[in-house]
Amino acid sequence: MATFITDECINCGACEPECPNGAISEGADTYVINPDLCTECVGFHGDEACQTVCPVECCVPDADLREEEVDLLARAIRLHPEQRFPGVSDLDDTNSRFRNPKWVNQGRG
Ligand code: SF4
Ligand code: SF4
Repeated sequence: MATFITDECINCGACEPECPNGAISEGADTYVINPDLCTECVGFHGDEACQTVCPVECCVPDADLREEEVDLLARAIRLHPEQRFPGVSDLDDTNSRFRNPKWVNQGRG
């Protein structure tokens, strides 16, 4: 799932600089996430960085855009060809929410 910003967004802008992929921008009514750039922070963080800083926690998984961890890692590699990433089997709870017990226990892994 790419991450999605709901209409509860209060346009504070806190999320934009936190995204490792530059996926967040100011939209017409709320901030928005480009799903082609979002990796759900796979490769970078064990949580979605946008949701971590969002004061109203409105950065949520888009159930209509489900994606596998391996595909999200491939996107991170494609977006950052200069950077080294672990292989998918070496991802852990520091760089993949799919390995984070907090999310796995909520059925979001
Ligand atoms: S989940 Fe991560 S990659 Fe996706 S928009 Fe939020 S901060 Fe960016
Ligand atoms: S941090 Fe949350 S409320 Fe602030 S702009 Fe981003 S999505 Fe909107």
